[in-house]
Amino acid sequence: MIRKTRLFTPGPTPLLPAAQFAMAAADIHHRTPEFRALYTRVLAQLKEFVGTVNDVIILSSGGTGAMEASVSNLTSPGDRVLVLTAGKFGERWTSLTKAFGCQADVVEKPYGQTFTLDEVKAALKPETRAVFVQATESSTGVRHDIKGIAELLKAEKSEALLIVDAITGLGTTHLDMDGWGVDVFIGGSQKAVMIPPGLSYLAISARAWDRMESTHNPRYYFDLRKERKNAAKGESAYTPSVALIAALGASLDYIAGQGGGNLVEGRKKLVDNAETCAAMTRSAATAMGLKLFAPVGYEAAAATAILPPDGTDSGVIVKGLKSQFAAIVTDGQGEMKGHLFRIAHIGFFDYMDTIAIIGALEQVAIAAKLPLPGFAFGNGLIAAQKTFAELTATK
Ligand SMILES: *Cc1c(COP(=O)(O)O)cnc(C)c1O
Repeated sequence: MIRKTRLFTPGPTPLLPAAQFAMAAADIHHRTPEFRALYTRVLAQLKEFVGTVNDVIILSSGGTGAMEASVSNLTSPGDRVLVLTAGKFGERWTSLTKAFGCQADVVEKPYGQTFTLDEVKAALKPETRAVFVQATESSTGVRHDIKGIAELLKAEKSEALLIVDAITGLGTTHLDMDGWGVDVFIGGSQKAVMIPPGLSYLAISARAWDRMESTHNPRYYFDLRKERKNAAKGESAYTPSVALIAALGASLDYIAGQGGGNLVEGRKKLVDNAETCAAMTRSAATAMGLKLFAPVGYEAAAATAILPPDGTDSGVIVKGLKSQFAAIVTDGQGEMKGHLFRIAHIGFFDYMDTIAIIGALEQVAIAAKLPLPGFAFGNGLIAAQKTFAELTATK
């Protein structure tokens, strides 16, 4: 058999062909009317994609650059902040806030879990200036309760800004920045928007823009106020990733197209799509006798984290999928390596892709003689088919 290489990873995700063509054609200078028209349009579309009236800033960086920008622009040395972490990306908030001299109170839960609102409340102090958290922790496939945390901060009359790494939350989860009162949502290009790594973006509330007037951590390349001033004129402060911005425009057009020309509707479809692919995958894994890592009700739709059978290294499954089918899935990150594997649903994945990876997983289970008592070909696929039919019957 020939094997087509396919990514099933939660970033980088598979590329949208229309975005690749737009990149290849983006031979324009960034101080021209052509670029200003493109940039202005993409910034306006991004607001609709995030679902906010707040200004959105694009940075030429990976997602971590936007995480750093949120810390350097919104905190001062000595600020007391609260970090909520239960995985590799949560730990990044701890390191970043410490690197910028913040006094970080940390609520840390084991990988695969999430925090209760009581735990968040107990750790919140009157002097807490900001709360940092992920919408979905990509390393464990767990979704955190952003709405609950936002409501808690309001109920406590906290002055803390709520800063959310939604890099794999955007486009996979229904998020309501303005309705819930979230101050910063951060996104990245190589996730739900189906283009290569290299751009990050931040939606920033009026309250957070005000905070920036008084904070004094050092910042230069990632100066959000400077970017906002330039963006108002259709430009970026420095040479931007022109090709990626053209790709982003094409991708947002595609998402709008999925919603009959309406980007908000298109985003909802994209979220429902990820939710459906994730539910199919969970049903299939469970029917095969595999266990899921995330607690019930907190499974992220960005990626499903699946535990290998007891005594089996997850690397056997990751390697089997690659060598037999050229399907690239990710092993656990950090301390979870060998203990789980993750199948992504964020961005450009559909029913066909999901059925294919489940079929491949069944082949690998048999070929690698995984100890799955009672498992036979088709168990996972039948469950996935039923889940798909149930979830899409009325849509
Ligand atoms: C991918 C990802 C990041 C990091 O993005 P980089 O582009 O690798 O810097 C941060 N947080 C989450 C939740 C992610 O999934």
